[in-house]
Amino acid sequence: MQFRDLRRQYDYIKDDINKRIGAVIESASFIQGEEVRILEKNLEEYLDVKHCVTCGNGTDALQLSLMVWEIGPGDAVFVPDFTFFSSGEVVAAVGAVPVFTDVRKDTFNMDVDSLEYQVNRILVEGKLIPRAVIAVDLFGLPANYVELRKVCKKYNLLLLEDGAQGFGGRIEKKKACSFGDISTTSFFPAKPLGCYGDGGAIFTDNDEWAELLRSYCVHGKGDNKNDNVRIGMNSRLDSIQAAVLNVKLPVFVEKELDKTQRVAKQYSNALANIVKVPVIESGFFSSWAQYTIRLRSQKQRDEIKQALSEEGIPSMIYYPKPMHRQRAFYEYDYLDEDFNNTKELTETVLSLPFHPYMNEEEVARVIDLVARHAN
Ligand SMILES: *Cc1c(COP(=O)(O)O)cnc(C)c1O
Repeated sequence: MQFRDLRRQYDYIKDDINKRIGAVIESASFIQGEEVRILEKNLEEYLDVKHCVTCGNGTDALQLSLMVWEIGPGDAVFVPDFTFFSSGEVVAAVGAVPVFTDVRKDTFNMDVDSLEYQVNRILVEGKLIPRAVIAVDLFGLPANYVELRKVCKKYNLLLLEDGAQGFGGRIEKKKACSFGDISTTSFFPAKPLGCYGDGGAIFTDNDEWAELLRSYCVHGKGDNKNDNVRIGMNSRLDSIQAAVLNVKLPVFVEKELDKTQRVAKQYSNALANIVKVPVIESGFFSSWAQYTIRLRSQKQRDEIKQALSEEGIPSMIYYPKPMHRQRAFYEYDYLDEDFNNTKELTETVLSLPFHPYMNEEEVARVIDLVARHAN
């Protein structure tokens, strides 16, 4: 069994993918060709946002956004303690200080009370200027943007949505990757919408920021590529990846999102009374980048992981270490006691095999093994 079976997906879309990649090679337009323009239009339409700027990957997408906001030394940016490394890495990369917040145990997303506590702590300390919040749509579930917006308004903070795992999710009718002042996503192969290499995109309704993003991602270009008006990056989506995404987007929207709901339902119905299953609050819709359960203890989690492995079933620990404990952030002062929920999650979470092409028998096999070892 595969954790996320991209090969099975390819079998389903093979003819279209091969034809479209072949056409890019025939055209010999490999960088920022027609396919990239088509993809940006398709994504703007799907998300109902004004601007989509594609780039090299989801990490660059976050960093480019911070560059547009001129966030740097002396600034504080608030990031959940329980996330993939990139969400905090980019803050330090532009010279600002990542200030971590605890998360909620039931949704895995940023805890708004902890955010407000950390903002006030930084204000009282008086050394850094609170500038922005990076909210993460962890495991496919949008963060609570209604509550986060209130805090951002109150303290005049910019809101950056890290939708690397969130693409396809929504709150009521509003789609993930449209909640931030700027929102980003990743097309890394294992993400909800993945390409066949690295890729990313940035979304905003702000005309001025969109224009700056288009400059920053091509060496800070001005009116043309030999006119460089600021220090930027080289971060572009290539045409072959855009062609793959143009084939995958309609399949993702019309078929895969529904199929993932069915797999999640099968897991949750069977496991809800045995382990702690993910909580999707009313009005929220997850795109299920991961299906993550919580066990009673680290010992039980590790035993179940081992038992699955012995039966040839892969499972993953997302994430085994709180951000504030990462060696790379040792120069900053964090207090372990500010992150009790994250600590518990790192010890008890387990992500199960999950993808839209899993059949009922496969899901049932995983359920059976988890149930047998969780009692
Ligand atoms: C994957 C991921 C990223 C980074 O995306 P890349 O395309 O791999 O650079 C950022 N944030 C989160 C939450 C992610 O899961």
